[in-house]
Amino acid sequence: MPELPEVETLRRALLPLVKNNICTEIKFFRSDLRFPIPQSALIEGLLNNKVSDITREGKYLLLQTPKGSMLLHLGMSGRVVSHPSIEPREKHTHAIFKFSTDTYLHFVDPRRFGSISWVPESGKHPLIDKLGFDPFSAELTPKAIKALAGKSRSPIKSFIMNSQKVTGIGNIYACESLYHAGIRPTKPTGKITLAQWDKWIECLRNVLNKSIASGGTTLRDFFDPNGSKGYFSINLSVYGKEGQPCPECFQAISRIVHSGRSTFFCKTCQK
Ligand SMILES: [Zn+2]
Repeated sequence: MPELPEVETLRRALLPLVKNNICTEIKFFRSDLRFPIPQSALIEGLLNNKVSDITREGKYLLLQTPKGSMLLHLGMSGRVVSHPSIEPREKHTHAIFKFSTDTYLHFVDPRRFGSISWVPESGKHPLIDKLGFDPFSAELTPKAIKALAGKSRSPIKSFIMNSQKVTGIGNIYACESLYHAGIRPTKPTGKITLAQWDKWIECLRNVLNKSIASGGTTLRDFFDPNGSKGYFSINLSVYGKEGQPCPECFQAISRIVHSGRSTFFCKTCQK
């Protein structure tokens, strides 16, 4: 599944192809993905308009025009592939956006959990209105997140994976960031100290940045049209390592099932 580092890498790869370019053609091959595709709003707002920037909120990308922005989410299996033409297009290509004489962005998504939406000029859209802090946002500070946590008794892992609190953190990055910060995933969120939040934010950004750095910086490197090498592998310390030695203390990594998902941690290093 594409995680935040893949989406950020896609954003960086798309920028030189799309920024300050006019979208001159749009083709749709179906009317819905996870949600209906607002075709007329996209034609009105994106077609024949210049994309001024691409921003990211969690795992959403926003291609901004003077009339609003196209909102993309890759879901479970989505990819954006750059081709020199409309044809050939691979199976499960649901939409194509032409940006210059030789850039056709193909939105491909076999499982169709992704989405293509339109955010009006107001910037309001139900998919993004309630998103919490982006991990790289300057607004994510120890003080701000501690205030948001309040006296919450829910485990910190659930809290950081709740997109209304912090957006874009999947199971892997939740486990890894908590491990590096030395925080037990089951610890009640309200008991996390300012110093621990500070450490966690630093560790989260570190693991995400390492993954982004490993991913290559071009669409070709990232989204190979033929291939399976789409998603990054990161150097994991605890995720998927049950029973293996902790890199720090060499005790066996533990696994518990938490809200239906595996949680990996070190009983010695994470308090
Ligand atoms: Zn350990």
